[in-house]
Amino acid sequence: MTTTCGKFAACGVSSVSTIKKRRCEKLMTGIGSTTGCGVISGAGLRMDQAKREKGSQVHRDQMLEAAFLHTRIDCYFVGTYAQRVSFASQQYRALDLILALEDKIKPEMRVAVVGAGLAGLMACAVLRHYGAHVHLFEANAEILHRQKAADHRLIHPSITLWPHEKPQLSTNLPVFDWCAASCDRIIANLKREWAETLEPFDCQADNPPEHPLKQTVGAKINGYTRNAGSKEGRLSADEVYPWMADLNFDLVLVTTGYGAENSDAKKDGISYWTPDELIEKRDKALPEKADKTEFYVTGCGDGGLIDALRIVHGDFQNGWITIAIANLLYDTPIAEAIKAAERTALMWARSILSENPQDMRSAYENASVCSHLNDVYTAQAKALLNPKPDDPPAYREANDLLMKSVKKISLSGRVFLAARVAHPFVPNAAPIHKLLIAHALQDNRITYRTGTYFTNKTHSKSWIEFTDHQKVHSGPKTIIIPRHGPEAHHRTIIDSTEQQSLRLRQIMLADRINIHETRTLRKASTTAKALDVRLPYVQSMIAEIDDRYAVDYDGSAYAYHKIVEQAEPSSHCAATLGIDMPVDLFGISSCARFSETETFSLCR
Ligand SMILES: Cc1cc2nc3c(=O)[nH]c(=O)nc-3n(C[C@H](O)[C@H](O)[C@H](O)COP(=O)(O)OP(=O)(O)OC[C@H]3O[C@@H](n4cnc5c(N)ncnc54)[C@H](O)[C@@H]3O)c2cc1C
Repeated sequence: MTTTCGKFAACGVSSVSTIKKRRCEKLMTGIGSTTGCGVISGAGLRMDQAKREKGSQVHRDQMLEAAFLHTRIDCYFVGTYAQRVSFASQQYRALDLILALEDKIKPEMRVAVVGAGLAGLMACAVLRHYGAHVHLFEANAEILHRQKAADHRLIHPSITLWPHEKPQLSTNLPVFDWCAASCDRIIANLKREWAETLEPFDCQADNPPEHPLKQTVGAKINGYTRNAGSKEGRLSADEVYPWMADLNFDLVLVTTGYGAENSDAKKDGISYWTPDELIEKRDKALPEKADKTEFYVTGCGDGGLIDALRIVHGDFQNGWITIAIANLLYDTPIAEAIKAAERTALMWARSILSENPQDMRSAYENASVCSHLNDVYTAQAKALLNPKPDDPPAYREANDLLMKSVKKISLSGRVFLAARVAHPFVPNAAPIHKLLIAHALQDNRITYRTGTYFTNKTHSKSWIEFTDHQKVHSGPKTIIIPRHGPEAHHRTIIDSTEQQSLRLRQIMLADRINIHETRTLRKASTTAKALDVRLPYVQSMIAEIDDRYAVDYDGSAYAYHKIVEQAEPSSHCAATLGIDMPVDLFGISSCARFSETETFSLCR
């Protein structure tokens, strides 16, 4: 496989893996950014740097502002209230936050990281890079516990950014990099990387010895207080090991993320991350089995949209179909129309929210905003269902894939999506999911009804009340799947006023933070070690994905883009490296574009 990309061809790069490897070698050795390929002119580079320096200071300030509460000095919160919260985005946010705090972080300073999810682990790795002494606290009995069993969910590094960005193969992070894969595999690999490369000391009941990286599981942190007249502070926890009372920290990072979901979801025993039997139940209800089971998915965030799609698509394959469609339709008029509509909706929702910061619901479920999105998604789904001769060939290909998939399942009239809003298109769900839902609605595979989910106090019964006063109750022939989103976990550490303040800052600021900044992590023994372990894994995953690639479905598996064989190789090479990000992401201009030769891009 040889890329025809001019810039990379010039430096003899012949495959994605080589490009990644070269980039990683540079990271490990700390070589400056322009020496590798030698294609950027000095003038061009200087201009880039000037723009970046100006831009990055503004973005750094915003980053800190979005993570900071005036009532909590030296305590920072990695944003869960921003848009597009995903595995990768929270890793980027954690990494960016620490880079923004760079001036503050001194070797051997004592830093506590609260919450051992993706953001927490990333924070620890970068803090270690700066030589800080880090102690990670996790409420659960193990790190990365929540998503570890989810073999039924495909996780992708950038699908939520479509159509602004073409789906990329991996996160391109210097540590804890991963490829699109089933969630349980990603988590298993990240855990391995954590244990093998960062080698944390596992603190138990014993008084912990000096160690640059410690982890304590089973400690639910419930407060952080600064010692009187001092710059240090202490954490308190529900389960307190005696030695914890003596620990002082100079800095605290809160990466507690979300809970699993809000309590409604627990009722039906199928939380989003728990392997469920939805497909088995669906298959039992297929016409030839003469089972008249009806399916009601409630909630029109990503969780609800994905589960509705899982039911009506015979080839959903944990989400691979979504990736294939996103790749096909990237850069088409459909994608452009959606991009414009999402930008308008987001700005609209934000302006409503700025007037009434307490009420997220009124902003994100605003009737006019949802109606605007409904018009656009419906029109684009119709275009997909009825491609015209002069439409891009991708329309027909995408529609064929979708139609082949839904025709395998015939549950007409028995799959419902329900939510409180008049239309199932809210600004904070991923555009690709909304497009696929619009397609299924237009093709009558799913019926949308406006209604509200209820459950009794003991969670022994649940039902939906529709606006026409009809009610459906869950039962053996009526399966209700509530997907009502998560609640942030900061609540245990900060009070509700602080929470509101943080939420508003993060919604308004955290998406602006596309630091787009290039760094060489020097003397990064941690990073270098991490890369040794990570590279073979990522490369083997890419190889695996490459094998799958082909947008035409082969009867058993879906596709991924084989990036080196794309029509426009130079843009694909750049996208693969994660360095040529859109200037205009979600309607907000980012500070600068970066050259392909630079080593390490931090963005989102
Ligand atoms: C229903 C649902 C579906 C999702 N689907 C996707 C998807 O398909 N793709 C995707 O990329 N992202 C998805 N996300 C988002 C994704 O789960 C998060 O972005 C990701 O988990 C972020 O990692 P995190 O480290 O910020 O938080 P988390 O993974 O939630 O980790 C936080 C950690 O902090 C711990 N903790 C919490 N409170 C305390 C405390 N007081 N003391 C100590 N420890 C504490 C928790 O136990 C947990 O281990 C989904 C989220 C939800 C809720």
